[in-house]
Amino acid sequence: MPQLAQRMGRAKPSAIMVVAETAQRLKAEGRDVISFSIGVPNFLPGEHVYEAARRSLESDSGQYGSNRGANAVLDAFIGHLGRLGLDGYTRNNCATGVGAKHILYNLAEALLDEGDGFAFATPYWTSYMDIAEIVGADIQLLPCPPEQDYKLTPEQLDAALAKKPRVFLFNNPSNPTGMVYTKDEIAALADVVARHPDTWIITDDIYNMMVFDGVGYHNFVHFRPELRERVIFVDSLSKTYGMPGWRVGLMAGPEVVAKAVTTLNSNHITSLPEVVSAAAAAALSGPQDVPAQRCAEFQAKRDQVVAALNAIPGVVCPVPQGAFYAFPDVSVAFGKSHGGKVIGNDVDLCNALLEAKGVACVPARPSASRAACASATPARRRSWRRAWRGSRSSSPSCPDPHPHEHEPHAVRSHPT
Ligand code: PLP
Repeated sequence: MPQLAQRMGRAKPSAIMVVAETAQRLKAEGRDVISFSIGVPNFLPGEHVYEAARRSLESDSGQYGSNRGANAVLDAFIGHLGRLGLDGYTRNNCATGVGAKHILYNLAEALLDEGDGFAFATPYWTSYMDIAEIVGADIQLLPCPPEQDYKLTPEQLDAALAKKPRVFLFNNPSNPTGMVYTKDEIAALADVVARHPDTWIITDDIYNMMVFDGVGYHNFVHFRPELRERVIFVDSLSKTYGMPGWRVGLMAGPEVVAKAVTTLNSNHITSLPEVVSAAAAAALSGPQDVPAQRCAEFQAKRDQVVAALNAIPGVVCPVPQGAFYAFPDVSVAFGKSHGGKVIGNDVDLCNALLEAKGVACVPARPSASRAACASATPARRRSWRRAWRGSRSSSPSCPDPHPHEHEPHAVRSHPT
C-alpha cells in the first residue's frame, strides 16, 4: 500500500475531540455521562440570527461566495472590532474561515515554514500544539506555572522573543486556565512585543466578550497601535454567540496576512456558505444582549464551580476571570488508585473519572484538568458531587471491582 505523507506522522486527533467523542459513545451506549470536555456554550444564538438565515435561504443564490468572506460579514466584523476599541481596519485587513481553528491553521500555513520558531505559553489550548506539529514548526513553549497565575511575564516574553521566533501566539482570555491579563499587564507585554520586530504576533482572543469582574478585554494594539503591522487578531462566533456548529472564524491584521489566508481559502474551502454568512453578519451586527447576558451567567457559574472545587480537600482551583473553564490542580489524586489502577497523572485521572463515574474532563498536563463549566447546572452539580463521594452504587456498565478503594483513595476533581 502506498504511504501517507510524512506530515501525517506528526498529526494527531485533537485530544479534546477524542474525550468528547468517547463521552458521546458512552452516552449512546446508555451511560449517564456528564460531559465537561469540549468547550461549548449552553445557549443558542438570538432569534434575529435564525431570521437572517431563513431570509438568506429564501433568496439563495446557490453560488460560491467570496474567498475572503462576504462583505456583510467583513463589515459586521469591522463593527465588532470597533466596539472592542480596535479601529481602523478595512475589509482588506480581514478574512473569514471555518471556525477560529481553521483560521489558526491557515495562519500557521501562511506564516511558518518547517523548522520556524513558534512560541506560545503553556498551559495551552491543545490544538496549538497539534497545528504546530503538523506544519513542522520548532515549538518553543513558555512555561507559565500557577505561581505566576498561569500568565506570561514581560521578562519571560522578552527572553523568548530575543530568540526571534517567526510567530508568537498569545491567548487571552486563556483556554484552558481562564486567566485574563489586566490592562497594565497587556501594556507591559505590548512594550516588549514592540521591541522585537521580527516576530508575527497572533492574538487568539475568541473569548474577548467573556471577561468577568470588570477586568476588561485588552489587546497589544490598544497600547501600541503601530503593532497592527504585525498583530493578527483572531475571533470566532462559536462561544460568544452560541454558534459553534455554524463554524465561523475571523481574523483582522496586516493586509498581506489577510490576503494569504484568503488565498489559502481559495484553495480549500472556497468560501463560507451563504446562509452561514447571513447568520454570521446578523450575529455580529445585531443586538449584543445575548453575549452580555451569557457573560453574566457564566460569571455566576464560575463562582459556584470554583467554590465547589476548592471545597475538595487538596484540590486548588484558581479563580478564572474569563472564558468558561475551570482549571483545578488535581495532583492530590496522583499516586492514589481507583479500580485497581494507580492514577499517575492527569490523563489517568480523566480516564478513571470517565470510565468509572461518567464524568468527562480534559487532561491538561502536568497536574491540572480542565472542566468546561458552561453546562454546569444544579442537577449536574449534585450528580457530580455524588460521584466524587464514591457512591457505592457503581454504574451498571462499569462495575467497580474495588469499591472499598473509593473512600480511602478518594480521587477528586471538579464537581459542578
Ligand atoms: N481558540 C481557542 C482559545 C479556543 O478555545 C477554541 C475552541 O475551543 C478555538 C480557538 C476554536 O474555535 P472555533 O470553534 O471557532 O474553531
